[in-house]
Amino acid sequence: MFGPGLLFVVSGPSGAGKDTLVEALRTRMPRLKYSVSATTRPPRRGEKDGISYFFWTREAFERRVAEGAFLEHREYNGNLYGTPRDFVERTLTDGYDLIMKPEVNGALRIQQAFPDAVLIFILPDKFSHLRERLEARRTETNEEIARRLEIAHAEVQSIRQFDYIVINEERRSEEAVNDLEAIVRAEKFRIHRWGDDSIREVEHS
Ligand code: 5GP
Repeated sequence: MFGPGLLFVVSGPSGAGKDTLVEALRTRMPRLKYSVSATTRPPRRGEKDGISYFFWTREAFERRVAEGAFLEHREYNGNLYGTPRDFVERTLTDGYDLIMKPEVNGALRIQQAFPDAVLIFILPDKFSHLRERLEARRTETNEEIARRLEIAHAEVQSIRQFDYIVINEERRSEEAVNDLEAIVRAEKFRIHRWGDDSIREVEHS
């Protein structure tokens, strides 16, 4: 089975656990490529440029926007975030599967650009856990947390446009990673992903 790679878009509200789940999935599936986003937000402790994000100034970011370098970009809570176009297009064309984790509007833009993309919505088992997780990681001020929760309420309104929901239950994130892995594996075996030539070969064997 050859051809373009599959694109997995993992989204959902801030605090739902996207980062942890995607990181765990990548450890299990090292061949899965990851699309590093660009942002104007300052790095958090431990975040590395080019690995967690490309940390760009607003000026540099806007210049790239004007150059058409992004597949999508969004202002989120006062900062810009975007998916660099080149890496995604090249990686998929080269036949590698790719995962990314934009916020919900970004995910829907990607779906328009790549109708074959698989969209996965990560939800906590209880909405109140979002606040608890955001508070526990101590990387945002109270105002920022309040704003992120407000955005989260708006984001869940788009859930029907996604292909899958994964519930990231408190203290059971291993199960959510299993679910995510199951989705990725199953998608690769869908008949419509096979090229017509491969199917014909089987039919005439
Ligand atoms: P954080 O500041 O917590 O790292 O990210 C804030 C939000 O921006 C998260 O919901 C994250 O998924 C989203 N985000 C990260 N990269 C991108 C991107 O390239 N595009 C879009 N639209 N959102 C992104």
